[in-house]
Amino acid sequence: MMELQTLVEKLKLDYLSDSLDTLCEQASKKDLGYREFLHTALSSEWAGRHQKGLESRLKQARLPWVKSLEQFDYSFQPSVDKKVMRELSGLGFIERAENVVLLGPPGVGKTHLAIALAVKAAEAGHRIMFLSLEKLMTTLKKAQQENRLERQMQLLVYPKLLVLDEIGYLPMNREEASLFFRLVTRRYEKASTILTSNKSFSDWGEIFGDQVIATAILDRLLHHATTVNIKGESYRLKEKRKAGLINSKK
Ligand code: ADP
Ligand code: MG
Repeated sequence: MMELQTLVEKLKLDYLSDSLDTLCEQASKKDLGYREFLHTALSSEWAGRHQKGLESRLKQARLPWVKSLEQFDYSFQPSVDKKVMRELSGLGFIERAENVVLLGPPGVGKTHLAIALAVKAAEAGHRIMFLSLEKLMTTLKKAQQENRLERQMQLLVYPKLLVLDEIGYLPMNREEASLFFRLVTRRYEKASTILTSNKSFSDWGEIFGDQVIATAILDRLLHHATTVNIKGESYRLKEKRKAGLINSKK
């Protein structure tokens, strides 16, 4: 028989390989049964791999910051339906390649909720990617100029979840709207997209500079989609106001 350590390395059980001695020691101390020991050993390999996979998925995602659903204060933003968010965090929408649109004024938590769902998806093993609309546009236009648009499109179609943040802050010209349309069409019914916007759907014609293309984009995006309309105060302003109160008491 091969040496145990060699065997573990040949089988590429890297995490088990690192912890083998400790695990064996603990097992004999705790007087573990064969079955329990095998279970503990394989669990440690699994946990290591899962953690590494998650870290790499989160790194590739390029999230601007990380927040969780647990950190979202629903009492401050009652227009966000807890039940809808709980349903979304079950990630069925990703299995079904459906979209999520988060609408509302600045500071109400659109990016927070989008990031929290993306982290949940990464934890569940899905590939995720986060891009502001501005970043998406510069990326696509650069790729087009350099004659590698198709390759870039493939990279953007690949993630099971793509977050496109801040639609509507910058108006698009025809060329940009058409690139956006191509991306939406490619992902349609294949993979999920979460979009955030400060503009209501009726204003999307203005964003895309063309009512016809805006309608075509919305048609695909909203065919299978959950829309969360957030109406309320900015959390950033609330925090500033709170800070103000504290200052005035000094
Ligand atoms: P938006 O994208 O709608 O402009 P953000 O998601 O960037 O708003 O939220 C602004 C800041 O306030 C972030 O730090 C976010 O984590 C926080 N925030 C917003 N809403 C809530 C909330 N209801 N509970 C906890 N933190 C919130
Ligand atoms: Mg935002």
